[in-house]
Amino acid sequence: MSGTASAPDVDVIIIGAGAAGMMCALTAAQRGRSVVLLDHAKKLAEKIRISGGGRCNFTNLNSKPENYLSQNPHFCRSALARFTPQHFIAMLDKHGIGYHEKTLGQLFCNDGSEALIAMLKSECDTAGVRWCMQCEVLNIEQLNSPPDEAISHSAKLPTTAARSPVISQTGEKAGGSISSHFTLTTSRGQFRTYSLVIATGGLSIPKIGATPFGYQVAQQFDIPVTKLKPGLVPLSFHPLDWQPYSELAGISVDALVSYGKQSFRENLLFTHRGLSGPAILQISSYWEQHQPLHVNLLPDHDMQGLFAQHRGSRMLLSNFLAQYLPRRLADVWCGQMAENKPLNQYSEKALNGFAAKLLDWQITPTGTLGYNKAEVTCGGVDTHWLSSKTMQVNNVPGLYFIGEVVDVTGQLGGFNFQWAWASAYAAGQAV
Ligand SMILES: Cc1cc2nc3c(=O)[nH]c(=O)nc-3n(C[C@H](O)[C@H](O)[C@H](O)COP(=O)(O)OP(=O)(O)OC[C@H]3O[C@@H](n4cnc5c(N)ncnc54)[C@H](O)[C@@H]3O)c2cc1C
Repeated sequence: MSGTASAPDVDVIIIGAGAAGMMCALTAAQRGRSVVLLDHAKKLAEKIRISGGGRCNFTNLNSKPENYLSQNPHFCRSALARFTPQHFIAMLDKHGIGYHEKTLGQLFCNDGSEALIAMLKSECDTAGVRWCMQCEVLNIEQLNSPPDEAISHSAKLPTTAARSPVISQTGEKAGGSISSHFTLTTSRGQFRTYSLVIATGGLSIPKIGATPFGYQVAQQFDIPVTKLKPGLVPLSFHPLDWQPYSELAGISVDALVSYGKQSFRENLLFTHRGLSGPAILQISSYWEQHQPLHVNLLPDHDMQGLFAQHRGSRMLLSNFLAQYLPRRLADVWCGQMAENKPLNQYSEKALNGFAAKLLDWQITPTGTLGYNKAEVTCGGVDTHWLSSKTMQVNNVPGLYFIGEVVDVTGQLGGFNFQWAWASAYAAGQAV
């Protein structure tokens, strides 16, 4: 794999052996392309391994463009239409891997995510993909001229190993018949390739190998990256504000959580530092700093009507609420919102006020628990610069971005893996 030869060693190099990288590698290799899949980590696909509590929620049967956040909401449409959950399920069936639907179209592996990783690896191996693990990319150089002449255009490679890539573009702007190719200098030698696919994912969970590499590559090629923020992440509150609720840690309620036009009816979990659970993870991807969230703690109840029915009752407010909410939550809520008196000692106006607060509890988180706890990174490589059919950068022939590094972020429930598979398949068909 040395770089002294003038012709590329390999048709396709994919950086990032995660969900998208492996799917792209096996798709391209099955089409007869020579493929090298390169990753800096020791183990491949760490995120698949830990996903879905170790069982990997690998797709969602109801995947639609509406399940994705992006500055360019229609971008994902084409790729999702051409590689559907059924295509992925067909691969599982071929390998005899069992799965089940948990809820809302979410499919999980019966026997853990290792089976899915083994399936993708085996498909890659059978198709002849070559692996290059524990490999750091130090420099990427694009040469927009015929391969035989390209070497004379190349910039001098850095002599010291830098962790972030030094990327240079030499030669004239590609287009027409001029072919583009790339030279990669890595900790394991030099590679030359016609197609370079960036599948290095987002920033979440750095301790298992997440890096900003993909965004750096985009920036070096003058491709904009949209605003990045942790998504599908627990929310935190100021410790003093949260102090009364911190004792509720571990309590979960079925709630309707809203921000702007988005609402999610799922479980909400109290934690020592704030709120988590599926409803909160979902809304966190939409939530913007300093803005309030609206929480309906009793979405199935007409609280105003119930209070009206029991206005004459001597039952304590907390005991009344404990019929509908967990007892500890009812106690704390009463302590925060009202004196805990018998219902018949409140005015109708006061009871209506309690009902309104239960149905629209407004809370303003101070922040999120950040990339260490986030399942995804919202934002990414600006899709206006990519082909929605192939994921190729419009003005850099041969360069592709796939998976989470792209500004397409799925909601909770298997949508992120479905995007990884679909965008990878689109690129794998084109490289
Ligand atoms: C705890 C957790 C649970 C999740 N559960 C689910 C779930 O159940 N369902 C779902 O749909 N989504 C889930 N997700 C999200 C999902 O894992 C990601 O969206 C998906 O893995 C993205 O795939 P990807 O291939 O783009 O990136 P990744 O899977 O993150 O792969 C990126 C690869 O690039 C490598 N890499 C990074 N930087 C470099 C570099 N500088 N040089 C070389 N290699 C590099 C990494 O080592 C990694 O192997 C979960 C995420 C987390 C963190």
